[in-house]
Amino acid sequence: MKTHEQFADDLALYALEELTGSERLELEQHLETCAACRREVQELRGDLGLLALSGAGPRPPARSKDRLLRAIAAEPRGISVPASVPERRRGLSWGLIPAVVALVLLVAVGTLWNQNQALQHNLDGLAALYRGTGEQLAQAEEQLRLLSAPDAVQVSLGPQAEPRKPHATAIYSPSQKRLMLMASNLAPVPAGKAYELWIIPTEGAPIPAGMFHPDEHGNAVMMDHPLPEGVVAKAFAVTLEDAAGSDKPTSPILIVGAGL
Ligand SMILES: [Zn+2]
Repeated sequence: MKTHEQFADDLALYALEELTGSERLELEQHLETCAACRREVQELRGDLGLLALSGAGPRPPARSKDRLLRAIAAEPRGISVPASVPERRRGLSWGLIPAVVALVLLVAVGTLWNQNQALQHNLDGLAALYRGTGEQLAQAEEQLRLLSAPDAVQVSLGPQAEPRKPHATAIYSPSQKRLMLMASNLAPVPAGKAYELWIIPTEGAPIPAGMFHPDEHGNAVMMDHPLPEGVVAKAFAVTLEDAAGSDKPTSPILIVGAGL
């Protein structure tokens, strides 16, 4: 009959359902009479169950590890094997294996838990990235829907058009000795000023050919102005002068056009 201490190795194997045959029967008989071994088996089974569950769950409580360590420490490693039953004993090292395996598993579970936390963190980052990409895709799709709409209208926008440049048309007849002028896009004149039309002859100084004011739209018409006798107009020009009129241009030419 084995002693209580001699069953210590078998308890872990029994908890793992690895104990068979006469060894199992022998231990079960001992368990009926030994509360300490029964409690040890229960605790070992509890620890193993916890290890099985903890693969995907939170870190197992530290006291499970402590209990396993205590179970290892309690192993009767100093006890000699009775010579009468040498085949009964598979050696202390074998008996320790379940506890060592459990301890290795515990460390592995802890490591896995840490890795799991890191992976979860990475997954959270990837999920945020994916959400961001999804929003950009949705925006792009919306823009494509607009661009491909059959009633989409394209309008080019640029800087506002510059003020239209002043322009004038002079019509004259040497035979009738008359001329007229139609001007547009003229800038408003300052008080006391007016535009003056000049005939630039083929020879000699510019000849005054009439004063005019633009209306509020910048248009001006000078009807039926006499054309001096014997003058051949090389060009017409407009300058800004005193409202009373000048004998000769006193400001830069604003608009000019060749005559014949
Ligand atoms: Zn016992």
